[in-house]
Amino acid sequence: MPRLYDSRKRILVTGGAGFLGSHLVDRLLNQGHEVLCVDNLFTGTKRNIDHLHDNPRFEFMRHDVTFPLFVEVDEIYNLACPASPVHYQHDPVQTTKTSVHGAINMLGLAKRLRCRIFQASTSEVYGDPSVHPQPETYWGNVNPIGIRSCYDEGKRCAETLFFDYHRQHGLEIKVARIFNTYGPRMHHADGRVVSNFIVQALMGDPITIYGDGSQTRSFCYVDDLVEGFMRLMESDAGITGPVNLGNPSEFTIRELAEKVVTMTGSASRIEQRPLPSDDPLQRRPDITRAREGLDWVPTVALDDGLERTIAYFRRLLPKLGMA
Ligand code: NAD
Ligand code: UDP
Ligand code: UDP
Repeated sequence: MPRLYDSRKRILVTGGAGFLGSHLVDRLLNQGHEVLCVDNLFTGTKRNIDHLHDNPRFEFMRHDVTFPLFVEVDEIYNLACPASPVHYQHDPVQTTKTSVHGAINMLGLAKRLRCRIFQASTSEVYGDPSVHPQPETYWGNVNPIGIRSCYDEGKRCAETLFFDYHRQHGLEIKVARIFNTYGPRMHHADGRVVSNFIVQALMGDPITIYGDGSQTRSFCYVDDLVEGFMRLMESDAGITGPVNLGNPSEFTIRELAEKVVTMTGSASRIEQRPLPSDDPLQRRPDITRAREGLDWVPTVALDDGLERTIAYFRRLLPKLGMA
């Protein structure tokens, strides 16, 4: 819809009350855009967007993306989907529906509006990778019937839908494959490793390493990731992705545990727990495509990002009556 008075955009962010979505919403509002945040608050929380309550350019709509949505916007960021294994395995059928039906509805919306649409895909499309680090050309090693499949296969199917709407209907698509990201506003109880370890350390509870802790992940700070989202969205129409976005610095889970204990000054002991099934052994993005195509590289080192995240949880836990 052409705007009457200015060039600012009206931008839809699905999943905008979640961890990544709420940071993206902040950045878009800071750039002067209007933002419509659509979220069913399954894993997101109004606490993440409370500070925007009085902003006249911000609007919140409680809605489940598995149902059609008729709104008028200039651009769509589709982030709605539970992201942590604990959350997405809570109701696996709904997880697949959110990825697949959610993608169909948001693509249908983008098709009617002829607008650009961004998809928050995931490194999980690579499954338990047999190629390391993972370039976008790697097709993955995914179990189609395991406990992670609702998420992995849902996101893979969403990618398929994005590329078919692009080829069949000429839609401008932007697909990001996001690697493990952390930072303030992660859900304190979503079971992801960074939030788990920090909360456990601050509460003096045992730090729970699953397996022997030799599995690796590469952790990206949220501000770096959101910068990558926006660069991808604003890139030339010819760039569809998929583009890996993540921090290539790789750590073992045991190294992360030790870092968190040291940085919090915690007396917590490190304990081992069974490794969940299908847990990928290693993960590190090859970000050549993002570096060359978007001039994007992460800038926040793990120690700095952890410091900011620890400070956030130190403030949050007393508010939740947990410390
Ligand atoms: P999150 O759980 O904090 O946010 C997801 C948001 O989507 C929540 O606010 C939730 O309420 C909302 N949502 C879930 N189902 C919905 C539905 N059916 N309709 C409307 N809203 C719904 O997770 P996050 O870490 O912010 O992840 C955001 C996106 O990025 C997800 O699509 C996720 O798959 C992707 N991603 C995240 C990471 C990461 O490390 N954080 C890694 C890879 C991919
Ligand atoms: N859709 C939507 N909002 C719109 C336009 C479409 O939610 O503004 C939904 C619509 O309900 C449909 C889906 O997007 O289920 C896919 O739309 P598309 O036009 O691709 O397919 P069709 O309507 O022909 O099935
Ligand atoms: N993990 C762990 N202890 C925890 C939570 C997670 O050792 O309390 C491990 C988990 O088994 C996995 C890694 O940390 O190997 C990352 O887990 P997360 O759930 O954060 O993300 P994903 O497995 O989706 O990468």
